[in-house]
Amino acid sequence: MLRRIESIVKKVSGQPPLYLHEPRFLKDDELYVQDCLRTGWVSYAGEYVKKFEEHLSSFTGLNYAAATVNGTVALQVALQIVGVTAGDEVLVPSITFVASANAVVHAGGTSHFIEVSERDFGIDALKLDEYLQRISYSDDQGHCINKKTKKIIRAIVPVHILGHPCSIEDISNVARRYNLKIVEDAAESLGSFVSHDHVGHFGDIAVLSFNGNKLLTTGGGGALLTNNKDYFEKALRLTTTAKKPHAYEFFHDEVAYNYRLPNLNAALGCSQMERIHTLLEKKRVLAQRYEDAFSKESDIAFHNEPPGTKSNYWLNSIRIKGMAMSERNHLLQGLIDKGFHCRPLWTPMHLLPMFNACPRMEDFFVTDTLHRDVICLPSSVFLADHA
Ligand SMILES: *Cc1c(COP(=O)(O)O)cnc(C)c1O
Repeated sequence: MLRRIESIVKKVSGQPPLYLHEPRFLKDDELYVQDCLRTGWVSYAGEYVKKFEEHLSSFTGLNYAAATVNGTVALQVALQIVGVTAGDEVLVPSITFVASANAVVHAGGTSHFIEVSERDFGIDALKLDEYLQRISYSDDQGHCINKKTKKIIRAIVPVHILGHPCSIEDISNVARRYNLKIVEDAAESLGSFVSHDHVGHFGDIAVLSFNGNKLLTTGGGGALLTNNKDYFEKALRLTTTAKKPHAYEFFHDEVAYNYRLPNLNAALGCSQMERIHTLLEKKRVLAQRYEDAFSKESDIAFHNEPPGTKSNYWLNSIRIKGMAMSERNHLLQGLIDKGFHCRPLWTPMHLLPMFNACPRMEDFFVTDTLHRDVICLPSSVFLADHA
């Protein structure tokens, strides 16, 4: 075990303590934030919000972007916009950050957990198809109905895990056949592409996160991306208390939210979007270095971007095949004791107590295996600058 810890530590460039993903700010970031303070434009009415949205839209190639206070509420609003209402079921992969499943509950729905694939850790499209064929039927309005619960399965949330695009084309094809709306959770994958399309192009709405540990951070923040103008306008309304534009009257025609991203945060988003290409290049340098280093270890597999895709390599990860849970825990504790704050994948959603009663597939063999096998490595952009 000690030898294993040493061998991993040697492959990480940079001095401990090192965390999974740490931000680094430059002079421009300070100047943009100072500009908000100087002008008094700190809340969401400021100009940086619009500029940040323009950056996101032009970089991803999606027509519309609406910035929000975080990714979780962006997911919630996206689900509501595509029609998720009380009692609906929404398909969510069992491997994801808990926000994907929480947002379904926030939107009034129930998460329904799906097995993932070893290829990209995202939803397994083949198993999804076979499962839906078996457990659902289409009612006379074309809704996908869960035979057991009699609830409408309204939508699916494919997640691009650790930055690697999931098999989104196959998943979307299955989803469309069962009349499911698609909300892509692209929270971890700004800068990831499937052939030439940025992730987010395949669903009805996609969601980004700019939390402190993401590739680009606004402290807290998120965004909805869509090509659908109607969805975009709904997103703006729902995130700004559904206030009717008027010279002086306060009139709201719906119970909505205060979810817009403040200008202060958007300013940080603008300065970083101006260097997004550099950030992504450095991520690839770091990933390549890890891949080369681990290629010499026979029982360790570096988690490479799936063929035909380009990952932002948000978090680099390795799989140590056949590792027992106790070994994995020793390894993680040993790495952390040395200041290398490696992490496993999230505890699978089907094992979390608050989701005990949620519908789910029968078998989570791959999910459970990845939960045991995968170690996420320090992946901050600045590590690429260390030899
Ligand atoms: C970070 C993240 C979110 C939520 O983002 P917040 O901005 O932290 O609310 C949602 N889904 C996934 C997969 C994430 O990694």
